[in-house]
Amino acid sequence: MLPGAQKNEVLVIGGGPAGATAATLLAQQGVGVTLMEREKGPRFHIGESLMPETYWTLRRLGVLDQLKASAFVKKYSVQFVTDSGKESQPFYFFENNPHEASQTWQVLRSEFDTMLLDNAAAHGVDVRYDCRVLEPRMDADQCLGVRFQEKGNEPREFSSRVVVDASGQSLVMGNRLKLKVPDPLLRKGSVWAYFEGALREPGLDEGATLVLQTQGKKGWFWYIPMHNNRVSVGVVSSMDSLFGGGFSHQEIFNRELEACPAAMKRVAPAKRVTDFYATRDFSYTCSQVAGNGWVLAGDALGFLDPIYSSGVFLALKSGELAADAIARSLAKNDLSERSLGNWGPDFLKGMERMKRLVYAFYEGFSFGAFIRKHPEMKRHIIDLLVGDLFKESVDAVIGPMDAMRQEMKQMAVG
Ligand SMILES: Cc1cc2nc3c(=O)[nH]c(=O)nc-3n(C[C@H](O)[C@H](O)[C@H](O)COP(=O)(O)OP(=O)(O)OC[C@H]3O[C@@H](n4cnc5c(N)ncnc54)[C@H](O)[C@@H]3O)c2cc1C
Repeated sequence: MLPGAQKNEVLVIGGGPAGATAATLLAQQGVGVTLMEREKGPRFHIGESLMPETYWTLRRLGVLDQLKASAFVKKYSVQFVTDSGKESQPFYFFENNPHEASQTWQVLRSEFDTMLLDNAAAHGVDVRYDCRVLEPRMDADQCLGVRFQEKGNEPREFSSRVVVDASGQSLVMGNRLKLKVPDPLLRKGSVWAYFEGALREPGLDEGATLVLQTQGKKGWFWYIPMHNNRVSVGVVSSMDSLFGGGFSHQEIFNRELEACPAAMKRVAPAKRVTDFYATRDFSYTCSQVAGNGWVLAGDALGFLDPIYSSGVFLALKSGELAADAIARSLAKNDLSERSLGNWGPDFLKGMERMKRLVYAFYEGFSFGAFIRKHPEMKRHIIDLLVGDLFKESVDAVIGPMDAMRQEMKQMAVG
C-alpha cells in the first residue's frame, strides 16, 4: 500500500483477472485495497486464450516482462474451420497493426492468475486467500462493505467505501440484487479436456486458436495449443443437444468429436491427460454496472460466450475502467451509482458489438466466405477479433454481415 493510503477504502471480491486488475490499478493510484479470494491459492479455471487488446491493461499492470519471459505459447492468429473441413485463412492480428501488442498468449490460468495476484500483492494490495465473501452489506441501496468468512473462523463484517464485485459467475452482488439477465439466444454448454501430443501447426501458427464447427453447424470445438505439449480441446453447443439423454461427459465429448473430423484428426495421436470438465448456461449480462458504493467487473458484470476468447479481455478491461472510475470518485468524494458507473455505457456498447458477431456465428455465418465476398471488411473483422471493440469504425461490418445473414436464411428456406 502506498504511504498515506487508507486501509479499507476498497474491498474487491474475487482474485481472478478482473479483481486482480481493479485492485492493482487502485493500489497504483494510492488507494487502500483489500481483496478476498475464496480459494486457497492457484486454482484451475477455464479461459486460456487471450485477445491481443489485453496488452494495454497488462502493460499498466506491469506484467508484460513476466509474460514475455513465461513459457506461455505465443498466439498470433485465429483460424476458422467450417463443418465441411474448409479452413479460412488465419486472421493474423499483426495485419492491422505491426506492433508487439498484436501478439498475445495462450495461458494456463492457474499460473496467469497467480502472476496477476502476486503482482497485486507486490503493489500493496492486502490479498486474503481462503476468504469467502458471504454477502454484501446493504443499507437501503447503499453498499457498506461485506460479510465474509476466513477458513476456520466465524463470519465477520468488513467496512469499505466501495465494493468491487469481481466474483466471476458466482455473481455475489448480481444474485443479491437480482441483476442477472440471461441471454435466451445463447443457452449453451461446454465439455472439455486436455491432451498431450495432439497435432500442432509449425512456426507462426503453432499458437493459433482454432475454431472448428461440428457437422450441421450445431456446435464448435476450440483447439488451444498450450505449453508443456498440452492442447485444450472443448466443445460448445446448445445445452439441449449437448446434455440431453443423460450421457457421461466422455460420451458427449466423443460423440461431438466424431461430428468434427477436422478436430478428430488433430486429437487422434494424442493422450488425454485430464478428466472431462463441463459447464453450462454461462451467457448473461447484469442490468446495472454500478450502484451506490459498489461496482461490477468481469464475469460478475456479464459474460458473452467463449467463441472469440473475449472473456479475460473484458475482465481486464472492465477491471481497469472500474478502478479508474473508483479512483476519480474517491477523489471527488462522490460514490454514487452515476459516478462509479460512468464507464458502463461505452463498455456495454463494445460488448454489444461482439455479441452481434457471436449471434452471427451461431446462425452459421462463415468468416472465410464473408472475407472472400467483402475483402475490404477484413480489417474490421480483425479489429473485432483482437478486441478493438470500443470504436465506431468497426460498425462498418454490421450492414454487409447482416445482409449475408439474410442471404443465408433465405437459402436455408429455399
Ligand atoms: C467454456 C468456456 C471457455 C472459455 N474460454 C475462454 C478463452 O479461451 N479465453 C477467454 O478470454 N475467456 C474464456 N472464457 C471466459 C473466462 O473464463 C472468464 O471470462 C474470465 O475468467 C473472467 O474473469 P473474472 O476475473 O471476471 O472471473 P473469474 O476468473 O471467474 O474469477 C472470479 C474469482 O472470484 C472468486 N470468488 C467467487 N465467489 C467468491 C466469493 N463469494 N468470495 C470470494 N471469492 C470468490 C473465484 O474463486 C474466482 O477466483 C471461457 C468461459 C467458458 C465458460
